[in-house]
Amino acid sequence: MLRIQDINVDNLTVLVRVDYNVPIENGKVLDDSKIQASLKTINYLKEHNSKIILLSHLGKIKTAEDKKKNSLLPICHKLSEILGEEVKFYNDENKNKVYQIVKKLKNKEILILENTRFNDLDGNLESNCDIQLSMFYASLANVFINDAFASSHRSHASTVGITKFLPSGIGFCVQKEIEKLDVIKNVKEHPFTIIMGGAKVDDKIPVIKSLIEKCDYLILSGGIANTFLKSLGINIGFSLYNEKYLNEVMEILHNFKQKIFLPVDVIVGKKYDSNYADYKLVNEVTKDEMILDIGPKTIEKYKNIIAGSKTIFMNGTIGKYEDKKFSNGTREIFNILSKTNAKVVIGGGDSVGAANVLGYKNSFYYLSTGGGATLEYLAKGSLVALDALKKE
Ligand code: ADP
Ligand code: MG
Repeated sequence: MLRIQDINVDNLTVLVRVDYNVPIENGKVLDDSKIQASLKTINYLKEHNSKIILLSHLGKIKTAEDKKKNSLLPICHKLSEILGEEVKFYNDENKNKVYQIVKKLKNKEILILENTRFNDLDGNLESNCDIQLSMFYASLANVFINDAFASSHRSHASTVGITKFLPSGIGFCVQKEIEKLDVIKNVKEHPFTIIMGGAKVDDKIPVIKSLIEKCDYLILSGGIANTFLKSLGINIGFSLYNEKYLNEVMEILHNFKQKIFLPVDVIVGKKYDSNYADYKLVNEVTKDEMILDIGPKTIEKYKNIIAGSKTIFMNGTIGKYEDKKFSNGTREIFNILSKTNAKVVIGGGDSVGAANVLGYKNSFYYLSTGGGATLEYLAKGSLVALDALKKE
């Protein structure tokens, strides 16, 4: 796989796939970490006198209404503000016009094209890796750089299709992700602890299965812990869990009992009473309650494991951190993690978002820019858009 440093980009037009799928509210970018992560590649290209075209998706585009909410224009303004220079923007619906704009682009100038998924309204062209669209993207530039780690688990026109038609390589954001995530994937420093919480049980089971042999401790909370508790026959009331995995987690528990740690006390809420919160031992949960955070005894137990660890991967928040009543576990675990000497890597949109929001932006070895891509990279050891570059 070629890196941007291995490819001649001097004075050439370079199309960079970035991941600017960032939270936006009322036309303002709420978290610019993904934009920051792309700056090294952009600045490198400017130093090499390249003409720079940026492509990204934002959200999902299923209806014309979705287009209004998911324009990249606010992101263009944000990038322009960060760089202190004009960034050009164009909605690529008129392909001939795009050629004219690209033709006029000067060295070091940056053009952002509108959300790649706008092309999904007309036959899912981006998401189905349409060959015409891939060729159109390729026809705009001399070189393609994939710097969108967080999108690299998707086989789309702008991530995979385009690589068939241009000399292609990876940018600095992707290089950094691989370097840091390989510390987890090829873990050398033990004890290695995995902390898994959050809601998306589907995404997390494959990671557990692929890393459980290598890890020394697996600390659980959230929907994933609930699924384990349920498989043990413990009453979890109305709590979030995933029925589909009950047998699988029972088998994991059976085979790796000594490594796996589950909550012993919890904070519960009620589905139809948003003011309700109570402390319970895990075997006291009633049928109308939902486990939404871990309790102090569990935090203490997890603290001791974290304190003895050398490498830690965390994915998924400990509890429902968006609600103050259930954010203590997430906050406390971040606090404990920020004080260890262990290499702490955090992946997952919500987990990284929570680390930023709760004041732990610069406290860890690495915050991954990926969610699904990070988990898939750790579970499978590869990503489709990176594999496409290996074939080139
Ligand atoms: P990530 O984005 O980090 O991969 P997920 O998307 O899987 O993590 O999970 C984050 C979400 O999980 C948050 O919205 C949080 O409120 C929710 N969550 C955490 N614990 C629980 C719980 N016990 N019950 C329900 N939701 C939970
Ligand atoms: Mg999430």
